Amino acid sequence: MWFSALLALALQASPDAGLDPSVAKALITEAVDSRGAYGLLTRLVDATGPRLSGSPGAERAVTWGVEQLQASGLEVRKEPVRVPVWVRGTERGEVLAAPGRPGSPLALTALGGSPGTPPGGIEAELVEVSSLAELRDRGASVKGRVVFFNHAMAVPADYRRFGELRTKGPAEAAKLGAVAALVRSLATASFRSPHTGSTQFGEGARRIPAAAIALEDAELLHRLLAKGPVRVRLELGCQNLPDATSFDVVADLRGRERPEEVVLVGAHLDSWDLATGAQDDGAGVALVVEAARLLAKLPARPRRTVRFVLFMNEENGLRGAKTYAADQGGDIGRHVAAMEFDSGAGRPLGVAVKAGPGGAAIVERWLPPLVSLGAGVLLPDEAGGADLTPLAPARVPVVQVVQDMSRYFDIHHSAADTLDKVDAEAFSRTSGAATWLIYALAESPEVLARPPAPPPAAASGTGR
Ligand SMILES: [Zn+2]
Repeated sequence: MWFSALLALALQASPDAGLDPSVAKALITEAVDSRGAYGLLTRLVDATGPRLSGSPGAERAVTWGVEQLQASGLEVRKEPVRVPVWVRGTERGEVLAAPGRPGSPLALTALGGSPGTPPGGIEAELVEVSSLAELRDRGASVKGRVVFFNHAMAVPADYRRFGELRTKGPAEAAKLGAVAALVRSLATASFRSPHTGSTQFGEGARRIPAAAIALEDAELLHRLLAKGPVRVRLELGCQNLPDATSFDVVADLRGRERPEEVVLVGAHLDSWDLATGAQDDGAGVALVVEAARLLAKLPARPRRTVRFVLFMNEENGLRGAKTYAADQGGDIGRHVAAMEFDSGAGRPLGVAVKAGPGGAAIVERWLPPLVSLGAGVLLPDEAGGADLTPLAPARVPVVQVVQDMSRYFDIHHSAADTLDKVDAEAFSRTSGAATWLIYALAESPEVLARPPAPPPAAASGTGR
């Protein structure tokens, strides 16, 4: 009785019980002071360029990832992944002149997965809808038309709400006989820059050319349609080529005591082709590689194995994550926790947890070192990441550094996703928080209980 009371008191006095606070201090201080993750991000984007799956840039990123992780002394391997290959080509569009008003060019960019237009392009009348339900109500009346998906995205959380207009809208319009689709960019700001992203047509389904238009152009089309019929012309040179072989990069920091227990830490190497993907997901790759470097040089390795995975093809297929999960076979149950970094380079706000009973209470004891970073709080956000969805059936607990994403969708998937938008100081704080949490997951005497099984539909998704 006396002993257990004393123990309870000791645990209270030392909220991060079981972990050495001096390690927290060392990891966080170095991540913040050295700005190592920002340095890695700079070198990644400048050395590889845009990194769409199947492109030379993606292959340069694979080589870069292997070299960086090997330089930290990890056991690194390349795991083959068959990836889709989509190339953009030239693209242009215009609103045709009508009595009383001039024509004007449209700022547009093809959606990943779109077929090209026939030579000479497509010209047709526009029809505006703001939801898939409204499209279904229009029925066969959209036949021979270009469907314009408009919406009211205003804040980051709207990305989920309106995302299906991009991912599913063109396929649904194709089923009704539309000849093309234009989707208002999923964005929270615009300097007339369209934001791409993947659109999905089912296997063997009819495919129509589909492009994103800048917010300014969506506003223009909406105004013109209020006055009368609008005809548009578009010409897209994009093509879907045969699949190619690429790679996930996987590196293990073998655990000193329980090497069979794996903490997976991931980000995705691929990016869209319009920019160097500094935030999506160069930032995540840099956070992972820097965490590997800092953890590998600790005097004692963490108790469990930390597995760093740089996934290929998150953006337009999720093939890297699906291949990784499939390759694990019966070993998938050895994953005791996972973290994914695919939320940009914003400052850390707190920590989210998806685990079974008692999991959040364990993570809460790791938070005191994060207070100085502004992130020492548990947040109710859903912990996850597209590349972790194939692990969901194995009920792997997920911990996430919740980051400031308030400006993320200003530039997401657009030509503006470049290094200059990254605040090195804020990003370095996220690097410190990330590295400490990875260490805590790998070193804590306790593992997190597994969360309940997800509903079957939750184990899919692509193109965060
Ligand atoms: Zn991403």
